[in-house]
Amino acid sequence: MMSVQDLIRKKRDGKTLANEEIKTFIDAVTNKTIQDCQTGAMLMAIWQKGMVPEEVETLTREIMSSGEVMSWPKEWAGLVVDKHSTGGVGDKVSLVLAPALAACGCKVPMISGRGLAHTGGTLDKLESIPGFNIHQSAAQILEILGSVGCCIVGQTETLVPADRVLYDLRDATSTVNSLPLITASIISKKGAESLSALVLDVKFGRAALYKDLDSARELAQSLVHAGNLLGMRTAAALSCMDAVIGRCVGNSLEVMESLETLKGRGPEDLMELVTSLGGLLLQMTGSVSDLSEGRRKISDAVIGGAALSKFQAMMEAQGVANETARSLCSAHSDYYSVLRKAEHQMELKTPTDGEVLEVDGLALAEVLHKLGAGRSKVGEPVNHSVGAELLVSLGQRVSKGQRSTVMGASWLRLHFETPRPTAGQIARLQGALTVGTNTPTHTHTHTLVRELLPPQ
Ligand code: URA
Repeated sequence: MMSVQDLIRKKRDGKTLANEEIKTFIDAVTNKTIQDCQTGAMLMAIWQKGMVPEEVETLTREIMSSGEVMSWPKEWAGLVVDKHSTGGVGDKVSLVLAPALAACGCKVPMISGRGLAHTGGTLDKLESIPGFNIHQSAAQILEILGSVGCCIVGQTETLVPADRVLYDLRDATSTVNSLPLITASIISKKGAESLSALVLDVKFGRAALYKDLDSARELAQSLVHAGNLLGMRTAAALSCMDAVIGRCVGNSLEVMESLETLKGRGPEDLMELVTSLGGLLLQMTGSVSDLSEGRRKISDAVIGGAALSKFQAMMEAQGVANETARSLCSAHSDYYSVLRKAEHQMELKTPTDGEVLEVDGLALAEVLHKLGAGRSKVGEPVNHSVGAELLVSLGQRVSKGQRSTVMGASWLRLHFETPRPTAGQIARLQGALTVGTNTPTHTHTHTLVRELLPPQ
């Protein structure tokens, strides 16, 4: 058998690793019989030399099998689904989609992450609800799926332990952005959920990991291919991530916007993502005959209130007091009686007359991150009440804001505490808005989803 040094050398020299060799490497990572410097060296060799599709498939399978692989009752065959997003600004799709899918008869064991850098994490958003417990064991997940149909939880200790080790070392060795490593990391976790169908929201644009459509498509193809090889029907949507999804950014503000959406009052772009991703999943489970029927079914579940009932039941099943859940889900909820409001709000004025041409979601997210809405290191706390509400939409005509507050003359409401925003941060936020005269280069397509990659 080859030693770890031999395996590193082989990959370093650009050769293809055999299945057994990849297994040896991942076993060593899982059992901690390999030094971190050796794992780091292998990651760098993979980053530099890449992997052929067979290696990616084996790497994904081995990482998936490094821990527990969930199993579901036979009656759920074909119904267990999930979605993964590569991360956006104001991305609260999971909070609406999981209960909508449950309302359509699916089982959704959504294992989500926390926010890191400028993108928010679904778990942080949910933890702004008092009592919401993202830590659920495999047995509790099974029980909640049986009674409610969906849960949104953190990764358990026993799932994909090799990924946890690799992910930390990728961060430390600047090897995060490698197509084979990203593919194996994402798909192994979904494979361990034993899904019937998976949909991927792969984002491109200014506020996304991938800035252009072509590189996002390359990642999407790799993910779709690996997911299908693992036996999950896997499809992807390529969606534009330049501005903000919906109007709110920040943990508790996004919970409020999700609840408004579940009450049928959500923004169009969020609904577009929810219905497209959900429609694709319903199509893959075979419960609808085509995508437009799938979209309609998801939309009906949201607009008609069935998804809201599932969200309420999910909150209660995950530790939220019944009275709190009921209050959040009531038609005219006073959200701030439950969710903490930031001590300070400040409105930014529209600088000039014209049309809203652009909102730079990355600038917004980066400033909010510094004000405490996000974390820079795993384990750091976040301030759930820090965030921002966009008061304008792309394409909207606006007029210059005066000092004395004129209705409609502000474009952003900032919610902050300590630290307070500096003059530089306010200038950066103000620079995130482009108001001008519409030209052909600024013609807005109001749809976010630009391409769909069907299952193979
Ligand atoms: N999310 C993951 O889980 N892994 C990656 O490598 C990137 C995003």
